[in-house]
Amino acid sequence: MRKNIVAGNWKMNNDLSETLSLISEIKQIQNTSGAECMVAPTFINLQSAFETAKGSNIEVVAQNMHFAQNGAYTGEISASMLKSVGVRTVILGHSERREYFHEDDALLKQKVDFALENNMRVIFCFGEKWEDRSADNHFNVVESQIKNALFHLSAESWNSIVLAYEPVWAIGTGQTASPEQAQDMHAFIRGLVEKQYDSSISEDVSILYGGSVKPNNAQEIFGKNDVDGGLIGGAALNAESFMAIVNAF
Ligand code: PEP
Repeated sequence: MRKNIVAGNWKMNNDLSETLSLISEIKQIQNTSGAECMVAPTFINLQSAFETAKGSNIEVVAQNMHFAQNGAYTGEISASMLKSVGVRTVILGHSERREYFHEDDALLKQKVDFALENNMRVIFCFGEKWEDRSADNHFNVVESQIKNALFHLSAESWNSIVLAYEPVWAIGTGQTASPEQAQDMHAFIRGLVEKQYDSSISEDVSILYGGSVKPNNAQEIFGKNDVDGGLIGGAALNAESFMAIVNAF
């Protein structure tokens, strides 16, 4: 069943006390939309965040993960480590990981496989740069990102996949995609999944939009047929604005 989801990607923000305060503040605001609500603090605060979120419907998720279970990978975090502190969902393929840490489709494919082997849910991010859109190449770019990292998966694996379309030019820029641009791309993505698999899978997969979603534009974007929620950066760092987005459905 396709779900409405709003996930806050906190990136490299919030120390321990800020993390716990923000979760406590979010808990105090009623989720009136029934959308699934997730927050992604930095690794070091996941366990405390998980404890603080207990008893609420806020899911604490990770921003990244390595593709191996353990070994000589200095500075990395594995699926079993995440699971040992209660994390069940991981964001993979964020454009900042692709850009600053050179994560490519082949690496992301490995990470997706590893997350699924470990029974984790994946929020898989992808999206075109401005130069791709201005060259009218955005559909091709998105198609290859999805195909290269996900289209080898079994039909069953798609129960654990959430897609997040995030045009790079809209992330952190205040320049959001128009609701029509988001809808066009989401419908295209759903069509790709249907062609590769079938309509039950394409209709069931949640496709989030990310890129400068704010309380004042969320309702219009989420109102589009194929937009099932959002991946939120800046506006997720404040409890009121985050919950206004969660409640924008
Ligand atoms: C993001 O980083 O995934 C994001 C969408 O950021 P922002 O909402 O700040 O554009």
